[in-house]
Amino acid sequence: MTIWTVANQKGGVGKTTTAVSLAGLLAAQGRSTLLVDLDPQGSLSTYFGHDPERVTCGVYNLFRIPARPAVEMILPTRFTNLHLMPASTALATLDRQLGAQDGMGLVLARALSQLTDRYAHVIIDCPPVLGVLMVNALAACEHLIIPVQAEFLALKGLERMLSTITMIARSLRKTLPYTIVPTLFDRRTRASSESLAVMQARYHGTLWDGVIPIDTQFREASRSGAPLPSVQPKARGTLAYAELLTELLAIGEYPQVAVAQ
Ligand code: ADP
Ligand code: MG
Repeated sequence: MTIWTVANQKGGVGKTTTAVSLAGLLAAQGRSTLLVDLDPQGSLSTYFGHDPERVTCGVYNLFRIPARPAVEMILPTRFTNLHLMPASTALATLDRQLGAQDGMGLVLARALSQLTDRYAHVIIDCPPVLGVLMVNALAACEHLIIPVQAEFLALKGLERMLSTITMIARSLRKTLPYTIVPTLFDRRTRASSESLAVMQARYHGTLWDGVIPIDTQFREASRSGAPLPSVQPKARGTLAYAELLTELLAIGEYPQVAVAQ
């Protein structure tokens, strides 16, 4: 079972879209895939038709005592091989409740370890804040995917993100390879191409060498509650995520350089 986390402390950079698209592609390839929604706003859960205000059994319950088996927190989707562990708005209270308690960073890792026989892939979608949920996501995963909007302001946020994960990885005593993914790339604007050039210069080795283009079909797909690859297999956005997936699967086979410690 491979576990990937999609994270960035900035909102609206394509985290949820990345999680859904990669999971949709994996599922369509016949790989049993679990999406985990760690965002109290529950965009991923909403995407698949679940209202985070009404979810009564989901990620939040993993943190309650007594803990119930992780498999009880999982919902099917209408797509074959694709399951969801939903978020509820109650997740927002976890930081206050658990922030200072020891051992709370490993709750998700332990829960997912119960599911190794069920899923070939797990993709965790993070909230845009550093807190106990993001720590859990980083502790549970073996590879981190960092979507970054191709524009200048986003680059500052990226520096912050990278120092945060370095700090967390150190405290978890683990190495955390990551891949930076330029998203919402607009070929026609200078802001996009110039910020991409800066990323290429600064993050050589950890930057994916493709881009996820702006594609209005993502929004339409999200309205219909389907991963874009499931409804538009030839869309530009689908093809870009398919290339990214190939790259990520290859990294899994040949563990390599890009490591935060
Ligand atoms: P995050 O999870 O980082 O907050 P989302 O994945 O929810 O970001 O994306 C924010 C908005 O941008 C959504 O409406 C989504 O449909 C749209 N979006 C994401 N990626 C793209 C893209 N490559 N092209 C066009 N729209 C996109
Ligand atoms: Mg999101």
